[in-house]
Amino acid sequence: MPSVAKDVYALRAALLDWYDTHARTLAWRSPPGTKARPDPYRVWLSEVMLQQTTTPHATPYFLAFTQRWPTVRDLAAAEDGDVMAAWAGLGYYARARNLLACARAVASGHDGAFPETEEGLRALPGLGAYTAAAVAAIAFGRAANVVDGNVERVMARLFAVETPLPTARPELKSLAGSLVGEERPGDWAQALMDLGATVCRPKTPLCGDCPLTHWCTGFQSGQPERYPLKIKKADRPRRTGFAWVLQDREGRVALVRRPDKGLLGGMLGLPTSDWSAEASDGPPAEADWREAGAIEHVFTHFALTLNVRAARGDGDFIWTPVDEALASLPTVFRKALERGLG
Ligand code: SF4
Repeated sequence: MPSVAKDVYALRAALLDWYDTHARTLAWRSPPGTKARPDPYRVWLSEVMLQQTTTPHATPYFLAFTQRWPTVRDLAAAEDGDVMAAWAGLGYYARARNLLACARAVASGHDGAFPETEEGLRALPGLGAYTAAAVAAIAFGRAANVVDGNVERVMARLFAVETPLPTARPELKSLAGSLVGEERPGDWAQALMDLGATVCRPKTPLCGDCPLTHWCTGFQSGQPERYPLKIKKADRPRRTGFAWVLQDREGRVALVRRPDKGLLGGMLGLPTSDWSAEASDGPPAEADWREAGAIEHVFTHFALTLNVRAARGDGDFIWTPVDEALASLPTVFRKALERGLG
């Protein structure tokens, strides 16, 4: 079997050729090979929506948003309540607030034009690494490495990666990066996404329809669906703990700096108890705490159930506006904060 490393050019050509005839028609997309670049606003909006839901579910929302707010300036000028209402049904209202914050930053700080580089895009509020790479590649033709779950699956199969997820994530990203090139970066990103969504499907890959069989170690193994490997739930110990969502009178949320050593060391987080089999330490401040449910989060070596408690109060914390906290906290704390906010 030809080595991918020695044959990147042919592999890229095969996938781009496939994309030229098999690209999905999507409301926010320019057809393959189109010289005119798609509107960054539409690319960004679609990518944010697609983080929430599937393509068929996102499409009517995308059409409604772009009809009502055709440009980023229009969205920036919208009433918060109108945008929240239009977002209803897409889930995670915090994303809608981030969406507005980002649109306003582009409209006021960048004269209505999205920055063209990943770094510039990442500096916008609430715009994460994946979205920055996707917008840079698709809207601005930058050779960015755009890796979503579909692309991870294709890489795991193409290279028969034996490391299980989530540990394999950096390896899969690096493998995807080894295939990125200067030619048609936006089409390349979308071709990989489409291959994962329509051919290299999670349970039943349609290898007979795939342009990459020639290079695919997973296909050659006869069991491509074995990849990506996942750490079995039973192999992962479960820990439990409490996360405390405390808000002051201005609605800011109490954060703490985590110890330098240990999990998520040195990062900002919500106050929490120990994460152990039987977490027992009490809340970080006197307040009228209410139960706000629980969240599940899977770390590489253990699964965590965090029971969330919420209250109003004060104390010696790093008081942070909610939008800022949602945009910057590690996922486990973001999930707990969203749960605590109700
Ligand atoms: Fe996926 Fe099969 Fe194509 Fe390999 S050959 S990338 S397993 S669809």
